[in-house]
Amino acid sequence: MHIYNFSAGPAVLPSDVLVQAQHELLDWHGCGMSVMEMSHRGDEYPLIQQQAEADLRALMGIPDNYRVLFLQGGAWTQFAMVPMNLMHGHQRVNYVHTGIWSEKAIDEAARYAKVHLAASGKDSGFHAVPAPDDWQIETDAAYLHYTSNETIGGVQFQFIPDAGVLPLVCDMSSDILSRPIDVSRFGLIYAGAQKNIGPAGVTLVIVRDDLLGEPIPGTPTMLDYRTHAEHDSMFNTPPTWSIYMAGLVFAKLRREGGLSVMQAHNQAKAALLYRTIDDSDFYHNPVALDSRSLMNIPFTLADRALDGAFLAGATERGLVQLKGHRLAGGMRASLYNAMPMQGVVALVDYMREFERMHG
Ligand SMILES: *Cc1c(COP(=O)(O)O)cnc(C)c1O
Repeated sequence: MHIYNFSAGPAVLPSDVLVQAQHELLDWHGCGMSVMEMSHRGDEYPLIQQQAEADLRALMGIPDNYRVLFLQGGAWTQFAMVPMNLMHGHQRVNYVHTGIWSEKAIDEAARYAKVHLAASGKDSGFHAVPAPDDWQIETDAAYLHYTSNETIGGVQFQFIPDAGVLPLVCDMSSDILSRPIDVSRFGLIYAGAQKNIGPAGVTLVIVRDDLLGEPIPGTPTMLDYRTHAEHDSMFNTPPTWSIYMAGLVFAKLRREGGLSVMQAHNQAKAALLYRTIDDSDFYHNPVALDSRSLMNIPFTLADRALDGAFLAGATERGLVQLKGHRLAGGMRASLYNAMPMQGVVALVDYMREFERMHG
């Protein structure tokens, strides 16, 4: 039986990438050792990392005045590194509150800065991105931060906010590489790898080079972006295997036509699942139409008492990891780049069948 993995992260990886990694596992390109065994200062590994960066730059169209950093510590560490490094003498920072992940970023930033809430989705129960006309951006501030896709709530920005003169900072952990974006609109983008890039262990930071300056006093060497920018992300030992795997994913996405091709594929998958939910009185997704995520689709059943039976039946058919986040309940289907259309077709077939039996 084929398994379709709807996990929110660590998440499904492209099967051809896993097969390639398997082929190369013991002997990378005839050098007689595994990527995992290579010195990061040897002859081979730096080429792997350089190629990964080159492929990512081509894929996202990253301008030359941006640095690509391969860091560790997950997006959570970026919640602190962003204010520590980008305050540049300011007291205040702007945040947009759209759900659980932006809230965590806000709480962490509040340890270092005065957080001004430029906008909040609270009035909508965090089921919609607040309309940009109502935002109140504090201009005497270091930057504006938002979360392009709320992985738990299933709320996604379908536009890039206008931060005026301020650098725009984005947590793109769960939708990076899912669609083309204009990198030049941003001051800094960060993303943990384990949603839509590769295995856990590497965190991507894309930062405009004029923002690399003095961090707040007491910042540890490892949390200073300049440390990593000045050493091509090889100041200390990088997460070599995760970067190698991410590089295989970047190369594959380039081969397959890039991010507009991914976007069309993601739109088609999400449309099928939303249509199935919206056409039924049995399933429900609470998110406003203009804010619905193409990546993470939460839904509930008409009767919560059926949740266990739904999940058990799904697992029997190889549809796994559909249980919603513990803070949200219900179900959540994550449809990252590597989820094939057949997986969504199998899911909606099962959903219709379950509804016929229990609806
Ligand atoms: C998963 C996630 C995080 C946390 O990532 P870690 O790599 O576990 O630190 C932060 N933000 C968003 C939007 C996420 O989806």
